[in-house]
Amino acid sequence: MGSEGLGGAAQQVQWEQPHPGPAPGRLGPAQRAADWERLRDELFDILVIGGGVVGSGAALDAATRGLKVALVEARDLASGTSSRSSKLFHGGLRYLEQLEFGLVREALRERELMLTRLAPHLVKPVSFLYPLTHRIWERPYVAAGLAIYQTLGGDRSVPGQAHLTRAGALRLAPALRRDSLIGGVRYFDAIADDARHTMTVARTAAQYGAVIRTSTQVVGFRREADRICGVRVRDCETGQEADIEAHAVLNCTGVWTDEIQRLSGGRGRFRVRASKGVHIVVPRDRIVSESGLILRTATSVLFVIPWRNHWIVGTTDTGWNLDLAHPAATRADIEYLLDTVNTVLATPLYEEDIEGVYAGLRPLLAGESEETSRLSREHAVARVAPGLIAIAGGKYTTYRVMAADAVDAAVPDLPGRVAPSITDKVPLLGADGYHALVNQADALAARHGLHPYRLRHLLDRYGSAVHHVLALATGRRELLAPVPEAPDYLKVEVVHAASHEGALHLEDVLTRRTRISIEYPHRGEACAADVADLMGEVLGWDAAQRHREVEIYLARVAAERDSQREPDDSAAATRRAGAPEARPGLLTPVS
Ligand SMILES: Cc1cc2nc3c(=O)[nH]c(=O)nc-3n(C[C@H](O)[C@H](O)[C@H](O)COP(=O)(O)OP(=O)(O)OC[C@H]3O[C@@H](n4cnc5c(N)ncnc54)[C@H](O)[C@@H]3O)c2cc1C
Repeated sequence: MGSEGLGGAAQQVQWEQPHPGPAPGRLGPAQRAADWERLRDELFDILVIGGGVVGSGAALDAATRGLKVALVEARDLASGTSSRSSKLFHGGLRYLEQLEFGLVREALRERELMLTRLAPHLVKPVSFLYPLTHRIWERPYVAAGLAIYQTLGGDRSVPGQAHLTRAGALRLAPALRRDSLIGGVRYFDAIADDARHTMTVARTAAQYGAVIRTSTQVVGFRREADRICGVRVRDCETGQEADIEAHAVLNCTGVWTDEIQRLSGGRGRFRVRASKGVHIVVPRDRIVSESGLILRTATSVLFVIPWRNHWIVGTTDTGWNLDLAHPAATRADIEYLLDTVNTVLATPLYEEDIEGVYAGLRPLLAGESEETSRLSREHAVARVAPGLIAIAGGKYTTYRVMAADAVDAAVPDLPGRVAPSITDKVPLLGADGYHALVNQADALAARHGLHPYRLRHLLDRYGSAVHHVLALATGRRELLAPVPEAPDYLKVEVVHAASHEGALHLEDVLTRRTRISIEYPHRGEACAADVADLMGEVLGWDAAQRHREVEIYLARVAAERDSQREPDDSAAATRRAGAPEARPGLLTPVS
């Protein structure tokens, strides 16, 4: 294997096998057991509810300020909105039209930080073509907008805008219908695998001492007089309950914010409503283009985003007041996406082209009161009671700023002086040494008998933590083989997900640690049994438990497929609700 990788530099470098030592921020079964004891026995400065990007960011922010912090997540890291976004780190061109320059500047600063210092292994530049359809006014209008976008971005590691004639735009994106544009403008933003990024933020927090525990649901609050002094949690695997004491509790639960607020018994300062956004995933060869596309729609924009060997097309924007954990895409959502993208494609996309579909819920602020401390138009943070902070709204790109704001808001509840946020100087796990490893990729690939392409793929998922992944295959070369029916991933990645990345169920690996559920038309069905066997080795599953995991996953896929044939939200949600939860002890609803 990997003969192309054995030439040139690879043969000259005397590669010294680095001994990876214990993995930092390891989230495995032993850690999980020990963390339950810690949650029960210790007093924390900050207890974070929610393992989405905001909660994980808050845990990292607090831990790196020297605070003692724990995070509890009811399901899996990023299992809510943070695995279901458009995956862009961007300023948001539409905010420019609303003259929200401050917001755009803040988001672009975050984009730059991610690309250069904090997560260069996970966040990559991505090109977009904006097809022009109106003569005379549109080009200068878009050019001026993008010039401001670039200027607000300050230092930037992505190329600036480029203006294209119709012929030039069609050379870049031959898939476009000739009569769908009169020219185009190309610009760059950035993209990341959101679920992997969130999990990496959480593991980085664990590396700095935070307790990170998934399948741990907040089911009640502890009070002393009018003060919140902790929470009651339930282990969603065993049904066991315990109390956790903390000086301050941060509600970082996105679309569940109101539910947690109700559970706390107090009135919130703002409310959060959910808006559903659906994406479809199609094979890369179905749209011939060297660039992503951004298309104007009647109310917003539609993105066609390059994603490995695929395109992600999205998104919709409709209100949702049904099951928050399982937003369901309908036939109407899918038809809207196909119809919209087909207005510009020379060869239309059909339903049969779709490899995957996913739906997520935007946590939008609603009903803010005057007392709300509004740190920006995009997110709100408030000390809703002594000892309880709520933060919501915003977007993925600005999670680090939101996290810092949430911890700042908790300062009055914390004993002693609290250091300012330093997360703009804290690279995520795997970032240190990443660039050097990219240059050494051929040699490292040869060392492990892998194709350099495969090694680079691993580096973009794990960065310098790749050593810990590959070390698991020492003496077990069979783990360096691809996952059957999902060859983009190696078997060792599944083992690593269970032993180091906190994956507890088949769906955690098939939908978030890998993206097999949206990248393959079989949606994970064809490899579920193999993946269960690999996970089961680490998690101690017997044959019955492996069987149960596979059955639950297959039921989930079947329910999602069924829901996607339904005409409306209510019918689709009913179909989706037919599948059982993987976490046997989860309370839905929580109160
Ligand atoms: C379709 C769509 C596209 C988007 N695209 C982009 C984009 O391209 N770029 C961008 O910047 N932003 C984007 N966003 C916005 C972004 O994804 C969200 O703002 C962000 O992911 C929200 O993160 P969060 O941590 O607040 O919420 P979540 O990720 O939902 O996390 C909340 C967590 O709280 C947990 N929880 C709930 N109840 C409990 C309990 N009782 N106990 C313990 N845990 C609990 C949940 O399980 C969940 O994991 C998009 C959003 C959508 C819906």
